[in-house]
Amino acid sequence: HSAEVKGALDLQNISYTYYGSDEPVLKNISLAIGAGEKVALLGRTGCGKSTLLQLITRNWDPQQGQITLDGVSLPQWQEAPLRQAITVVSQRVDVFNGSLRENLLLAKPAGTDEEFCEVLEKVGLGALQEGKGLDTWLGEGGRQISGGERRRIGIARALLHDAPILLMDEPTEGLDRRTEQQIMSLLLEHAKDKTVLFITHRLVGLEQMDHICLMDEGEIIEQGKHQAL
Ligand code: ATP
Ligand code: MG
Repeated sequence: HSAEVKGALDLQNISYTYYGSDEPVLKNISLAIGAGEKVALLGRTGCGKSTLLQLITRNWDPQQGQITLDGVSLPQWQEAPLRQAITVVSQRVDVFNGSLRENLLLAKPAGTDEEFCEVLEKVGLGALQEGKGLDTWLGEGGRQISGGERRRIGIARALLHDAPILLMDEPTEGLDRRTEQQIMSLLLEHAKDKTVLFITHRLVGLEQMDHICLMDEGEIIEQGKHQAL
């Protein structure tokens, strides 16, 4: 059960090549994130950050090396507990054709309307509840939502899912600076005791990280404390 997952992630000599490509996008990446530790991953566009995240969530497996969670390699984890252990704010948030409620139930199947309303207020989506409330239809034939609202739905889902590990891939991309600050404090407060991997190319939130890694062309080229870099 996820309550027993401590959340230590260890990436050991990971290499990954996309099917049909002859150049690896990740080359011998090693990165240990202790339970409750917070690591930021920075690097230019296309250097492999999101790919790394896909490997941690086991959307696909590395051809070389292994990733362990609490010392157990990912293929040895069953799918359900692994999914319970990891929350992802992906770079592209999927909103599907369905009610606002259904879009949130995805993150917390046992969630109540009251919880959903509370979390929507928190992420600044209070206005989305007006009119039909949680029955508001999103997606095709429904309320057209903006890029910023889509992001916030992704954040709301992360707050609802509440797992020991939080992976964030450019969670505030496309938001204005003040909103970015608010959302980052919300996420970091939520993740106070969690293991965090935070992918970003901005500087907001880096002070709260224990460790910062710089990636380039599929490799970690530098790492250290915030002040040292
Ligand atoms: P960004 O900052 O723009 O989000 P990133 O660091 O997240 O970039 P990735 O999305 O991991 O980069 O992509 C790394 C490389 O792998 C890029 O050259 C990209 O074109 C390639 N790539 C990504 N996804 C696929 C895929 N599904 N099939 C083939 N190549 C891919
Ligand atoms: Mg990316």
